[in-house]
Amino acid sequence: MSAQKIINFTPCPCQASQNGNYLAFWVKPDVLVNKFIDEPDGICNIFRCRAGHVIPLARKDIGTWMADIDDHFRESHPPLTSAQAVTEANRCYFCYDAPCTEACPTDIDVPGFIRGIASGNMAGAAIKILQENIFGGSCARVCPTEILCEHACVWTKAGGPAVQIGALQRVATDWQMAQPTHPFIRAPATGKHIAIIGAGPAGLSAAHGMARRGHDVTVYDTKPKPGGLNEYGIAAYKLVDDFAAREIEFLLGIGGITLEHNKTLGDDLSLDDLARNFDAVFLALGQAAVNMAGVTGEHLPSVRNAVDFIAELRQAPDKSALKIPRRVLVIGGGNTAIDAATQAKLLGAEDVTILYRKGRAQMSATAIEQNWALTHHVVIHFHAAPVRIESETGELCVVTESRRYPADLVLRAVGQKFHPLDGLEIENGRIKIDQNHATSHPKIFAGGDCVPGLDLTVRAVQDGKCAARAIHEFLGCD
Ligand SMILES: Cc1cc2nc3c(=O)[nH]c(=O)nc-3n(C[C@H](O)[C@H](O)[C@H](O)COP(=O)(O)OP(=O)(O)OC[C@H]3O[C@@H](n4cnc5c(N)ncnc54)[C@H](O)[C@@H]3O)c2cc1C
Ligand code: SF4
Repeated sequence: MSAQKIINFTPCPCQASQNGNYLAFWVKPDVLVNKFIDEPDGICNIFRCRAGHVIPLARKDIGTWMADIDDHFRESHPPLTSAQAVTEANRCYFCYDAPCTEACPTDIDVPGFIRGIASGNMAGAAIKILQENIFGGSCARVCPTEILCEHACVWTKAGGPAVQIGALQRVATDWQMAQPTHPFIRAPATGKHIAIIGAGPAGLSAAHGMARRGHDVTVYDTKPKPGGLNEYGIAAYKLVDDFAAREIEFLLGIGGITLEHNKTLGDDLSLDDLARNFDAVFLALGQAAVNMAGVTGEHLPSVRNAVDFIAELRQAPDKSALKIPRRVLVIGGGNTAIDAATQAKLLGAEDVTILYRKGRAQMSATAIEQNWALTHHVVIHFHAAPVRIESETGELCVVTESRRYPADLVLRAVGQKFHPLDGLEIENGRIKIDQNHATSHPKIFAGGDCVPGLDLTVRAVQDGKCAARAIHEFLGCD
């Protein structure tokens, strides 16, 4: 639904914008802000255009806007139709030694699964993906394919648009998830019992790999829901319709996996007890702590961690009930900064600015992610390193060397870090492992964001898959 359809507004007589859609886009958040900030009872019958002129607005229009907020969080990339999928699959050259497979961190046979789609063998396509990557459905939606498989596609090298590998992967995995049966069969029971701490992509990928090999698995997580950042962190418009939960339900279809929620390592569970009571332990703890920006004033009220803001948004049963102030500043240059800023905008903030201390090329958010934020009217200021945050005049303000940025909310998105853990060797602030994912403790393995490496869902899934294989060998079962 376009902005114009959502709200029936009167363009401002000042003609601040010649484009009706554009004006509507900017006006609507203002309405939302007035409602939330100035008139919490929802009585609001004016809005201001960008030039500050006040214009009457019928209350029914506000109701329409509020009712449609979920529409703002609709899927960023809708699925291909069956016909589009076949056409797209037939663009693949089915390269020998395919560079896309080389570039996929989970080693999916990309031409192999695409050939399945082209020939109508959807079950074959899905199994080729899922045997390497049981989170093939979420990876299809969240992988930065522009720097992975699609970047390596020969079409990209030739200057044309890459084959849409992520979108095709989604077609096959969605087909599989709609089938009544799980595509894998468990090996006969081994009598071995593995503990996994962390029910994110790394932990559950390992759980599936071990359950397939006939082991019993218990997965503990401190949170009330499984999924890790798939459930609490990834932007709402990438994983819609409770996809994270549906994918886990599909994954658990293998059998032999028990989930234990609200159980925290270091509180309810200890490494020593786990190592004593289980045949092996896999740690998939992610990065539970966040970095500070390192400037004075960041403990002021209205300065929040971007990941907490996103988690609250992801878990909100009604996004229109979330309060978002008018001016939001996001400090950081990664995907978390982009996701937090874009979602703040979609919630209705009027001015959203990202402050990044270096230049565009140094930003860890990919060019596609940056453009995604820009097309949602997020402003990015490069070479803008905050030196302090203050509120002396009563107004929250982020100060850089050259400017003052007034704000109503500051979101800190300067990276996550591994929460310290006693009893294991640490390397670069994360758990040290060898090539078999073994830690310094003989029965304990680790993978995903809690060990050194790229912080991507697909890498975490690969770690879980490889760790399951290594633990199986460690148990003498091969
Ligand atoms: C905001 C944000 C957006 C992102 N967007 C993308 C994206 O678009 N694409 C992409 O590829 N990657 C993205 N990532 C990165 C990706 O989400 C991670 O790399 C991936 O989730 C790592 O998986 P994991 O299983 O290692 O850790 P997590 O997903 O973090 O899971 C760790 C689990 O361990 C649990 N846990 C932690 N400590 C304990 C404890 N002491 N006891 C018990 N349980 C514990 C946690 O509750 C959690 O469930 C994003 C990350 C963030 C923060
Ligand atoms: S898992 Fe990700 S990187 Fe690998 S082929 Fe699929 S979309 Fe590409």
